[in-house]
Amino acid sequence: MSIKFLDMSAQRKTGNMPQTYRSGGEDMYGSCPDKCPLKPADAKTATEVDEAYARALAKSVPRNGVSFSYSHFSPEKWKGFGFNKPKRTTLNYSASTQEEAIQSFKDGIPTVWAEENPSARKVDGVQLMPCPADKHDHIQCVNCGGSAGPICARPDRKFIVVFKWKQWKKIPCYAANGYVKFTWKNTGKVLSNMTDGERLLEWVKQLPFGSTVRHHIAGDIGKVGKHE
Ligand code: SF4
Repeated sequence: MSIKFLDMSAQRKTGNMPQTYRSGGEDMYGSCPDKCPLKPADAKTATEVDEAYARALAKSVPRNGVSFSYSHFSPEKWKGFGFNKPKRTTLNYSASTQEEAIQSFKDGIPTVWAEENPSARKVDGVQLMPCPADKHDHIQCVNCGGSAGPICARPDRKFIVVFKWKQWKKIPCYAANGYVKFTWKNTGKVLSNMTDGERLLEWVKQLPFGSTVRHHIAGDIGKVGKHE
């Protein structure tokens, strides 16, 4: 199976919040799309979105809580699966270029993208705002946005979130480095007769009332086993 659940986390960026990891079983990148610019060149990626998992993900919000995540798959492939509505998971599109990000935002999709030196500015009439956790050590997703909740969990926000593109030594994907890599590598070793979507819905049900969940810290919504 290809999903792993953490009720608590010591991850620096998110802070302590429930979170998941998704992998492609034997290949860590097996749930990621080929168009992601951060993965290694020889990674075995997914050719299509796992609709059953994506529909379950959209519904996987704790009672009175919020859920959010990101996808490198084009929004055309998932926007009809129930995301970005009240009481549903916010799924942000991780654009590969600034132009793609602007277009996605104009299409009404919550959007993020990464650059070396994030700055607040307007491009083509669209506001871009740096992730506050990249600018301030005391901010993590768990306290980002104050009482209104994490910025990335707001599907109707009026700006694109810009992350800092860190220059890792070998593989640009942040999840292939450091602490996240260790957790992600073990994800494919979990055995279960249930699908990822079924397991996810069961896990979310038992989380404390009002929890904020960060879905797949690493991995994406691709169909595992359908390789490029
Ligand atoms: S903008 Fe806020 S919620 Fe989004 S990644 Fe940065 S700290 Fe986390």
